[in-house]
Amino acid sequence: MEKRKVVIIGSGPAGYTAAIYAARAKLEPLLFEGFMSGPAGGQLMTTTDVENYPGFSEGILGPDLMEVFRKQAARFGTKIITKDVISVDLSKHPFEVHSDEEALLADALIIATGAIAKRLDIPGARDGEFWQKGVSACAVCDGAAPIFKNKDLFVIGGGDSAVEEGIFLTKYASKVYIVHRRDELRASKIMAERAIKHPKIEILWDSVIEQVLGEQLVSHVTLKNIKTNETEKKEAGGVFFAIGHSPNTAFLKNQIELYPNGYIKVQPGTSITSKEGVFAAGDVQDYIYRQAVTAAGSGCMAALDAEKWFAGRE
Ligand code: NAP
Repeated sequence: MEKRKVVIIGSGPAGYTAAIYAARAKLEPLLFEGFMSGPAGGQLMTTTDVENYPGFSEGILGPDLMEVFRKQAARFGTKIITKDVISVDLSKHPFEVHSDEEALLADALIIATGAIAKRLDIPGARDGEFWQKGVSACAVCDGAAPIFKNKDLFVIGGGDSAVEEGIFLTKYASKVYIVHRRDELRASKIMAERAIKHPKIEILWDSVIEQVLGEQLVSHVTLKNIKTNETEKKEAGGVFFAIGHSPNTAFLKNQIELYPNGYIKVQPGTSITSKEGVFAAGDVQDYIYRQAVTAAGSGCMAALDAEKWFAGRE
């Protein structure tokens, strides 16, 4: 079996940044960028303009940004494999990393598999329907797009994300409806108060979106009050899911410690996991910030932590 010093799993900003740093530190990284598990490059591949990544004063398209990251990782000698990692065996060292066709050995592992925004299976909101044509799972990524300007927008969820994304969207929308399935927000009190008091936000309690309608883009939604069973059709320029994220950790099969919400536990302020030689970076260990720039920063941390770990073993 081929053996590498560092194997990186994941190809978003965290994985590529870890690769850039590890390659420059002569750790000869091999990076699995994924294949069927989602687009190589991660969540930014399904985003349009990225205007909050420093260094691009005019903004950059998410896929273009990831292409530059990938090129930079390759330039310093990262070996990039277009395959999914199916499982890892952390019970032995070097660790075993299995893709669908082969296995290889790794002295150190950097996990940067990200998280995926949860979506609801609503008619009209699916792939091939209005998904990415007015339906999104990331208001911060997509909210500034011209199609949402001065439109009534709908955010589904009742947690801090729904409130935060709802408030964010008020900058562009004529009105923001937060559609929540209960009569009380899950969001922290202070955030909930902000939403309730906001002049451009209305909360539709005990409500669900039953259907997303339109022609080229979203134009209407049908809503249902689940207590009264009343339905209503409203004009809509966009629908945003804000019902939480799921970290991509299934392939780890509980071999490292996770938080109760499923994210990888790292020692605070580091990328060090509960398993010696295994480091985690990006959204797979971050359920708070979840930004491209914070993911990239934590990818750098993981490579530096790995480098330090190797130095301590010499
Ligand atoms: P969350 O707290 O888990 O809230 C998810 C919301 O989506 C809940 O209101 C839930 O409804 C709703 N939901 C879940 N599944 C649903 C379904 N199938 N249909 C309809 N609604 C559904 O997730 P989050 O808001 O993404 O927050 C995640 C973590 O990040 C939290 O710890 C949060 O405090 C933190 N966060 C903090 C900030 C901040 O402090 N600025 C910002 C964002 C996130 P129910 O309430 O009925 O369960």
